[in-house]
Amino acid sequence: MKIAGKVETDDLPRICPLLSRKTNPRYGQAQTRVVQVGSVRFGGERPVVIAGPCAVESREQTLEVVRAVKGSGADMLRGGAYKPRTSPHDFQGLGLEGLKILREASRETGLPVVTEVMDPRLVEQVAEHADMLQVGSRNMQNYPLLVEVGRARKPVLLKRGMAAGLCEWLGAAEYIANEGNFDIVLCERGIKAYPNGEYSRYSLDLNVIPAVKGETFLPVIVDPSHATGVSAMVEGASRAAIEFGAHGLIIEVASDRLDAAPPKCDAAQAISPRTLRKIIHYIDVRQEQLIAAVHAA
Ligand code: PEP
Ligand code: MN
Repeated sequence: MKIAGKVETDDLPRICPLLSRKTNPRYGQAQTRVVQVGSVRFGGERPVVIAGPCAVESREQTLEVVRAVKGSGADMLRGGAYKPRTSPHDFQGLGLEGLKILREASRETGLPVVTEVMDPRLVEQVAEHADMLQVGSRNMQNYPLLVEVGRARKPVLLKRGMAAGLCEWLGAAEYIANEGNFDIVLCERGIKAYPNGEYSRYSLDLNVIPAVKGETFLPVIVDPSHATGVSAMVEGASRAAIEFGAHGLIIEVASDRLDAAPPKCDAAQAISPRTLRKIIHYIDVRQEQLIAAVHAA
């Protein structure tokens, strides 16, 4: 029986003919499309680590954090210049000034930068400053925004809506691909589930990673920071995501200087540069083991 309006993954070839494996035999059963951002390769040989502050709060704070994450071994930078906040009274980001700071941070470290764009009218401005455009969880189904980022000719990081199923998420990605832009990286960032908010911010849906890989050739990464909302959980969630086959991680980091001001956004989930280094070390060791296993076979 087919329930009216109910979407099944069987419908994916119809919803996403451009992105479904079934309708794109070119990528076979398991091959991933490599999405290149500067020298960073999502879906390549090694998981990618994006790290940086939740928000760009000032030039000093941003440069301090990006230097630290580079020192910890991060491949790419993150930071919000336009922030989607629950309350309009909360810090909304520095806007264009924040984008300029991110550009400087990228130039200084030599690492590419991803930042969120929320408004279709600002896609051009954000694309001028960033190497990759982030569509946030709250905007995953903002179709005019998806069309605009699809036209921007920049790689896109598409976060999963916090209550979105797989078909809705891939359907959103199809809007971007439909504009001719296939440089899309998917990002699982935790969903609303029961119980919600009792012991973590969202529920990290690791099970979706193999499902995504089965249905599409796009790379998929995990955001353990927003998924848990708890800094003590970020390292474990990162390892688990890698074990589940994630092509990378995006992690929020704050200064661990004793006299540093706490971050204005998402302070409870920020990890220290030291913890980031441990996560990257874990990935390094795992990579060495994988390479050794291939040679031994
Ligand atoms: C972010 O990464 O800055 C962010 C707001 O994440 P999300 O859209 O997943 O809540
Ligand atoms: Mn955040």
